[in-house]
Amino acid sequence: MSVASIFETMEYGPAPESKEMAEKWLKDRKPNLKQFINGKWVAPKSKKYMVSNNPCSQKKLASVPLSNKADVNDAVNAADKALSGWVKLGGHGRARYLYAIARQIQKHSRLFAVLESLDNGKPVRETRDIDIPLVARHFYHHAGWAQLQSEKLPEYKEIGVVGQIIPWNFPMLMLSWKIAPALAMGNTVVLKPAEFTSLTALLFAEICEQVGLPDGVVNIITGDGATGAEMVNHPKIGKIAFTGSTEVGKIIRRATADTEKKISLELGGKSPFVVFEDADLDSVVEGVVDAIWFNQGQVCCAGSRLLVQESIAEKLYKKIRSRMEKLRIGNALDKGIDIGAIVAPVQLKTIEDLVQKGVEEGAELWQPSWECPSDGCFYPPTLFTNVAPASLIAQEEIFGPVLVAMSFRTPEEAVMLANNTRYGLAASIWTENINLALDIAPKIKAGTMWINCTNMFDAASGFGGYRESGFGREGGIEGLYEYVKLKVEEEFKPEQKQKEVAEKASAQKNGLPTIDKTAKFYVGGKQQRPDGGYMQNVLDTKGNVIGQVGEGNRKDIRNAVEAAHAASKWANATAHNRAQVLYYLAENLEARADEFAERISSALNQSTRKSMQEVEASIERIFIYAAFADKYDSHVHATPYRNVTLAMKEPLGVMGIVCPNEAPLLGFISAVIPAIAMGNTVVAIPSETAPLLATDLYQVLETSDVPGGVINIITGNKDELSKVLANHDDVDGLWNFGSKEGSTKVQFAAAENMKRTWVNFGRNRDWFNPKHVTPEYFLRQATQIKNIWVPYGE
Ligand code: NDP
Repeated sequence: MSVASIFETMEYGPAPESKEMAEKWLKDRKPNLKQFINGKWVAPKSKKYMVSNNPCSQKKLASVPLSNKADVNDAVNAADKALSGWVKLGGHGRARYLYAIARQIQKHSRLFAVLESLDNGKPVRETRDIDIPLVARHFYHHAGWAQLQSEKLPEYKEIGVVGQIIPWNFPMLMLSWKIAPALAMGNTVVLKPAEFTSLTALLFAEICEQVGLPDGVVNIITGDGATGAEMVNHPKIGKIAFTGSTEVGKIIRRATADTEKKISLELGGKSPFVVFEDADLDSVVEGVVDAIWFNQGQVCCAGSRLLVQESIAEKLYKKIRSRMEKLRIGNALDKGIDIGAIVAPVQLKTIEDLVQKGVEEGAELWQPSWECPSDGCFYPPTLFTNVAPASLIAQEEIFGPVLVAMSFRTPEEAVMLANNTRYGLAASIWTENINLALDIAPKIKAGTMWINCTNMFDAASGFGGYRESGFGREGGIEGLYEYVKLKVEEEFKPEQKQKEVAEKASAQKNGLPTIDKTAKFYVGGKQQRPDGGYMQNVLDTKGNVIGQVGEGNRKDIRNAVEAAHAASKWANATAHNRAQVLYYLAENLEARADEFAERISSALNQSTRKSMQEVEASIERIFIYAAFADKYDSHVHATPYRNVTLAMKEPLGVMGIVCPNEAPLLGFISAVIPAIAMGNTVVAIPSETAPLLATDLYQVLETSDVPGGVINIITGNKDELSKVLANHDDVDGLWNFGSKEGSTKVQFAAAENMKRTWVNFGRNRDWFNPKHVTPEYFLRQATQIKNIWVPYGE
């Protein structure tokens, strides 16, 4: 091509990045790469290897160990051995290592970027300018958190050995999101990269070696899904942090249901990209490019559903098509391309199959006129219009460069369409009207909201999903809580006696027809008879019958959940208003303090004086949450761009709360009040052994202006009812202060709908001990953080 013809056509020439250093790195490690366990480079005990290919050429790059159970065991034991030394090093010592890692990554940033592009197929422009700088930023930011740990999180400690399983779409970035906070908080780590993309994780292990990180603090083992499963099942791992498909997320949740392993899951998405008619359409088009063609659309939060206001839909589609025609696809190491290769043939096939289904479903397909290179895993940018909202391509994550477009007429319709998916990872909103943007942002169910921007990430801001996009946050202070546990947790003890009493009570239940003076349920602000018509005797601690309550079933729970949904306006009440209602509740409880104390005395066969202490403590606890209602407020994160990132605390929605048996009034109050203080509505299952303390509250609730449906109370068998709540798709969060078996059932059932749960595995806190009931811990469990990125300043 002559210079003159280039001037004529304005064609870009190739701008190749050198791969010399990366190839030398690979050559020096031939024939097989090793894995990093206990600070040593070791061959796999399995003696097996997997091949890592370059997606742009399909040529082999390297042989990587395929680890087995024995390798996983070695890595976990090394991490376990290293734990106490790493903890003892303290925050400052750990900060120095994290800082050293960040510096070292920056020094080798080009090698990381090139190796990542070779292995993954993503444009080097992205790895060089986005992935690797963000990786370094993550380690710097978390060096800071290590330093501040004792000041900012004094009540917490490390979890222990953490197993981390990451996907192939952002190999190094996901590694940093996982390793940096874990190390900062004093945990040691076993990390497994995805089978397709292990190379940069092994280069990272060399960095750990270079900075002299103590042996065993970071262990990198490579392998496939079976290796990951070995990690999930390893008894010495205290927490699993996973990013990947919702399907595997569910498998992990089921596999850990009967263990006390903590898990955080960052799963798939089908994120809406909402364009209103007043948006700046040229900016929108560039936004679309970043939303769905960044990283070939293999992004969990890709803006893959374009929702556009009908009046401008055709105009916008035309602009997008014209921009698509100009996108350049090709070798990842060409600095002039927009789109690289799909990671592997199996992913390419998935994309092709889903696109074919879209065509069969009747959606209109558009692809640019140019051809993709034929020697690698390439797929052209694709736009579907005329897509039905319920169609497969509008609902399933395609994880490729495929945009599906739908139109809406009104903002309400936009919100409805945006939320019409099982996911809730991210959304972007495009409008020049800030009032409209900030009106819509709280209504879309997603963990991250970008206003007039998209795919913005930073270490200071939490990232994570609602609904089937998983739970837990990565980044910022909200991400740190995933890697710590409350120090006092170790004091929680199983309370056998209460359980025996519960069993005795249920053994005495009978099928008497309901009688009027017996406590009914409390649903939607009204007392309701049990659907099954069954009552249950309530016994005191000596086994004497002191009353009867209804025995709830599936239908009762369904009614209560419906009532709780109908009361969802409670979330929009101002925090001040919610506080007023709570103070009033405390006042009315105080007015009937003697009566409640007597009831506790008769249920627990204890002195009225002791019972009065429980009533007093309950009143004080209501005051505490009334105080917090307008003080547990949101933050603005200091992300390094021209924007503010609002970390808004939102209620989960409808919560199931299975209350403790012990301290029947105080336990109920301590569990239910923080949830409603934050704007949730609740279906509560009270103490099974002393439920009358909760049923006696009906009149107090009625006289305290607690709107009907905000607190619903169903009595009955806690383990059975909690399972019903866990299975219910319209219950957004579930707390279970109950038996170990009940907790396991909840965890297992919630794996299906990815409900956020908080269970105690039968270990009870002392509800009178303020350290066991730290309000902020409860409030955090009652909320989820939505990070809203708003352009701001110059
Ligand atoms: P997976 O969820 O299978 O893989 C993610 C990670 O989990 C990998 O390290 C994988 O290992 C590992 N893994 C697989 N099975 C198990 C298991 N049973 N127990 C423990 N770990 C396991 O994602 P895929 O790579 O198969 O991609 C499939 C789809 O998942 C994509 O099309 C996309 O829709 C979605 N996805 C979502 C991502 C996100 O960021 N949310 C990222 C990647 C994929 P290995 O790779 O070695 O098999």
